[in-house]
Amino acid sequence: MADTTKQDSPVKAKKAAPVNNDTNSPSGMQFYEILSTQLNKAFQIGEAPEAVQTILRQPKNEIIINFPVRMDDGTFRLFKGYRIQHNNIRGPFKGGLRYHQDVSLDEVKALAALMTYKCSLLDIPFGGSKGGIKMDPSTLSRAELERVTRRFTHALGNNIGPDYDIPAPDMGTNGQTMVWMMDTYMNSINSLQKNALRTIVTGKTVVAGGTVGRSKATGQGVVYCIEEWARDREFDLDGCTFSVQGFGNVGSHAASILGKLGGVLLTVNDHTGSIHNPEGINPRKLAEWVAEHRGVKGYPGAREVSKDDFWATPVDIVIPAALELQVTAQVAETLQCKVIVEGANGPTTAEADEILARRGIDVLPDLLANAGGVVVSYFEWLQNKRAESWELEDVDARLLHMMKKAYHNVTHLARQKNCSMRTAALAIAVDRIARIYGERGIFP
Ligand code: NAD
Repeated sequence: MADTTKQDSPVKAKKAAPVNNDTNSPSGMQFYEILSTQLNKAFQIGEAPEAVQTILRQPKNEIIINFPVRMDDGTFRLFKGYRIQHNNIRGPFKGGLRYHQDVSLDEVKALAALMTYKCSLLDIPFGGSKGGIKMDPSTLSRAELERVTRRFTHALGNNIGPDYDIPAPDMGTNGQTMVWMMDTYMNSINSLQKNALRTIVTGKTVVAGGTVGRSKATGQGVVYCIEEWARDREFDLDGCTFSVQGFGNVGSHAASILGKLGGVLLTVNDHTGSIHNPEGINPRKLAEWVAEHRGVKGYPGAREVSKDDFWATPVDIVIPAALELQVTAQVAETLQCKVIVEGANGPTTAEADEILARRGIDVLPDLLANAGGVVVSYFEWLQNKRAESWELEDVDARLLHMMKKAYHNVTHLARQKNCSMRTAALAIAVDRIARIYGERGIFP
């Protein structure tokens, strides 16, 4: 589709902030390389032929769009947006949209590939994609965020679609962002099909056609995994202690749900700092504080500590739920916990993985632990297509069933092959994809 958005008012002669032209960053590259290393290990224990391995090493499509948006003060700013479509052999591309100042091409490529494997591991009929806009959303007004979102959606045009590529929220975006995307898309395409186009995004607000249970889904899935792990290890969750990095959508919901099972939240880190309370932090009250103050800093129910102290605090369970590459080799040496449950995508470096294995700390990998979000996104997509509206109990029960199945498939293969859960999860995902290529062949 042609990008034909009109300018509403003439560009003012004020100095415009230049677009940041870097498509890459060292951390994005490191993340992508780490995933490639992990993939090599999965290829070794799996049965994917060389040709499929080659296909999976690079995304199918890489879309980069520089687009102008009018700011509240009348100036125009150029933004850089990405949509990376990794693979769609199993179904439409599916993946979140991230707003963050560190978004880079390699980061989005790694995140898109993870989506392909996550959907395959959970056996849902989607491929993998991811999007991102390089900006700090906390510095933009609500009206500016709306204009950025709508303009990017319009510029993407037919590069997304309800049966082609379906965005969802990720870091820095939420249900409101998805509703703006949906509305823009609906108004850009043939109006006779408007209602059928609701499936263009998932993670919408319930009012605008989303599903109950989606906003907590990733955190809920994290806790379902923890429950399976606890059963496996004969570990009692009632009275267990835990820490969380990132108190946004994933971290805050995981903390509240684990809290209801008797878990005690001792320490939290986010982009504003770290807090600790040996008596426990109330997840619900902290979430209210964060919603109002945009971070954990200053929360009256805990004292401020250093980031090193956050990682070194003895707890049973650590839940990284912020950015990638947070659990470094140095952090892995200082952690005092039984298990790391990856709410975030790519939080653990390759070196850290080895150190954690040597130290006997379990790792429930991202493509399993945080899959609850895309599973419930799939439920939302199905409900929209069938004009249905499911009950929360139904959504949760189906999610539990799928998380349990994936968890046990992964632990079974990890024991059989004597490998990490990460390698086993990737191997299951890759082999499912390889079997489809085996039957369909590679065109022409
Ligand atoms: P969010 O925007 O709601 O919250 C992000 C959190 O990370 C905030 O608390 C923020 O303070 C913190 N953070 C940002 N930079 C940080 C830094 N440098 N150090 C420490 N903390 C920092 O995002 P979210 O949706 O909760 O996503 C968090 C992670 O979970 C991401 O890795 C995302 O890809 C992954 N994930 C999200 C979903 C979902 O449904 N939202 C699904 C699967 C995976």
